Amino acid sequence: MTARLILKPGRDKALLHGHPWIFSGAIETEPQRTQPGATVQVESAGGKPLALASWSPSSQIRARVWSFDLSRPIDHAFFKRRVAEAIALRRALMPDFDRQGALRLLHGESDGLPGVICDWYRAELAPAAGGESWLVLQLTSAGAERWRDALVAALVDATGTPNVYERSDSDVRGLEGLAPRTGVIRAAAGVTGPSAGFSIEENGLRLGVDIVGGHKTGFYADQRVNRAKVGRMAAGKRVLNTFCYTGGFSVAALAGGAESVVSIDSSADALELARANVARNGLDAGRADWICDDAFQALRRLRAEERQFDLVILDPPKLAPSAAHVERAARAYKDINLNGLRLLAPGGLLFTYSCSGAISTELFQKIVAGAAADAPADAVIVERLGADADHPLRLAFPEGEYLKGLVLRKAG
Ligand code: SAH
Repeated sequence: MTARLILKPGRDKALLHGHPWIFSGAIETEPQRTQPGATVQVESAGGKPLALASWSPSSQIRARVWSFDLSRPIDHAFFKRRVAEAIALRRALMPDFDRQGALRLLHGESDGLPGVICDWYRAELAPAAGGESWLVLQLTSAGAERWRDALVAALVDATGTPNVYERSDSDVRGLEGLAPRTGVIRAAAGVTGPSAGFSIEENGLRLGVDIVGGHKTGFYADQRVNRAKVGRMAAGKRVLNTFCYTGGFSVAALAGGAESVVSIDSSADALELARANVARNGLDAGRADWICDDAFQALRRLRAEERQFDLVILDPPKLAPSAAHVERAARAYKDINLNGLRLLAPGGLLFTYSCSGAISTELFQKIVAGAAADAPADAVIVERLGADADHPLRLAFPEGEYLKGLVLRKAG
């Protein structure tokens, strides 16, 4: 018998619009004797069944909807269907789906799986480079945790990749009362973990991915299309790649014929992998400079040195982790965009991004416009950017909005 969660009168509107979160304040009667992660039936105040959700007693988001279809239970078959739907969506919208070395297979709420992230690193697409393929799973909700085995089985089955690594070490697990957990969940015979120097191919370039120690699941697949774009526009240019992580944009720019590439990151480990990525692709290390420092300071220093660049990339980490951080984050975004624009030569291009869900596209554009006014720089937006179809955004879940970018051209 599924436990029942009953909403307060009038608090079913978001749910009826397809929003998957139920906050503590909306609940009239909590389910009784229910374990974290167990499935509950959500009902309106009038007793109308609305959804099946997972119970997260220690979080302010007390329940997350698995399904609005009450006719089918939440079981192994449910997770098999969700994984199949996620793959079908990507296959339909990404003509090169079968050739992607790194892609996001499950994108949480937007794939109808709250708290579940899975990235797929397919080393087998370039067997000459060696190494094995991995599914990297990050679980951040009590419900996702409860169905871990079902998710792993469904993923292995649907992809044929036998190796699954867990990177459930995101801070948000604490809000769900979950301890961090990392390590191999499953692997083919003889495979004990990601091989040293594990790498994938992206846009024809070979990039190392540190599944065990890197950020998040090891790699930012969301920037794949944008790295390709920078590669196509980099010929002959002086490029500045700020917040470069493992140098995806830097390698793309060098391969695209950039005259020089300066890359900045505060993580020495990331820069080490970035350097290795340049070598891996046989690119001229003499055209690459690396700055291991705080980017906010480094940009100021480059300004003081009166350096000029033809193409500047700003891809900071999530500066506004929640709505409470928006004001401070807006100042930080403005600061780097101001200095980025000042460092641009006339006619230069700025690729500027935000991955803060709490900062809307409109606000981001306003912040960049403020930076341009103060620089001062006369600039036009020549393109708006986002991630590829492997990072879908559910209309009913605007919180899932993720990467947004602008390409600006400074007046010549
Ligand atoms: N553009 C990258 C992803 C960037 S992720 C890619 O294509 O893969 C954000 C990066 O910012 C991380 O590598 C992190 O180490 C770095 N970072 C975070 N805070 C920083 C700071 N204050 N100064 C410099 N780098 C910082």
